[in-house]
Amino acid sequence: MIESFISETRFSRKHHTLSADLASEFGAKRFLQKYRLPQGMRYAKLAERKTFYVQEFDTKRVVRWLSKVILRPRLAIVIGRHTGLYPEEYEENASTTILINRYRNFANVRTQILDFLPESVYYDQNVYGANGKILGEEMAFDLDPENLNCPIHGSLEKKMSKGQGLSFCRLELDMLREETIRLYEEIQETFSKISLVYSGRGYHLHVVDRDSFLWTYKARRDFARQLKKQGHPIDDWVTSGRLRMIRLPFSLHGMVSRIVLPLELRELDTFDPIRDERCIPKFLRSTSSSPS
Ligand SMILES: [Zn+2]
Repeated sequence: MIESFISETRFSRKHHTLSADLASEFGAKRFLQKYRLPQGMRYAKLAERKTFYVQEFDTKRVVRWLSKVILRPRLAIVIGRHTGLYPEEYEENASTTILINRYRNFANVRTQILDFLPESVYYDQNVYGANGKILGEEMAFDLDPENLNCPIHGSLEKKMSKGQGLSFCRLELDMLREETIRLYEEIQETFSKISLVYSGRGYHLHVVDRDSFLWTYKARRDFARQLKKQGHPIDDWVTSGRLRMIRLPFSLHGMVSRIVLPLELRELDTFDPIRDERCIPKFLRSTSSSPS
C-alpha cells in the first residue's frame, strides 16, 4: 500500500475539458470489476462519486471527528488506482497519491475533491510544525480482511497468487469484527482513548491519547511486532512506516461504495456493513430499495 510516487496538487484549478458525466461514460467503458467483493458492494462510478461528494459528504462531522485527532491534517487522494475509474483528463495521474497540503476549510476540500472525483481520500497522520518539521504522528492500526485466513478463500498468499489480494468475502468480514474487538481490548491496556472506524473494507483503530503522538519509531515498531506475535492480523505499514496516510472518516470508499464510518466498540457486535444504512451511500440505497 505504500505509494511509489506522490505529486502535489495544483492550486490553480484548471477547467475541466470533460464534464464529470461525460467522463463517467468514458469510465464506464472500462468498468470491469477485478476484485471479488461481498454481495452489495461494488465500485462506485464517477457520477456516483460526484453525487456523494456534492450531497452526502458531511464536512461538519469530518471536522468534529478530526478535532479529537489532528486538527488540520494534510489530505491526499487517489483517483483510480484500484478501480481503474477516473476522469479522462487525469489518466496520467490515476494511480498517483496526490497531496492536498493546503485548504481554507472543508468546503474548499469538497471543491478540490469534486475536481478529481477520487476513489479514495486519506489524511496524513503526521503532525507538522510551522517549518514543515514532523512534530509527532498519530498511531493507528489497520485491520483488513485479506490478512485473515479464510476457510473458503485461503491465506493472503493464496489470494495474491490468484491476483485477488484485495478481494474479500462475507465470512472474512464477520471474522474481522471479532479480530477488531480482540485488538481493541488488547490496546486498551496501553491506551485510554481509541477511536474505531469502519474503513470500507475493514476497520481502523486510531489511538487518540496525546502521549502516543510522541512515541518513537522504535517503540511503535516494537509495539506492532508484539501485537502480531500475539496473533493480531494488523498491517504494520500503518504503525511503523514513514508515509502515514489513513482513510478520512465520512469519505467514500470508492472500491466498495461504502461510507467510512466511526463506530462505538459496543456497536461492533452487531454492525453489518452490507446492510447498515449509515455506511451505504444514497446511490446504492435508491437502486436497491426504490419502489419505482
Ligand atoms: Zn473468503
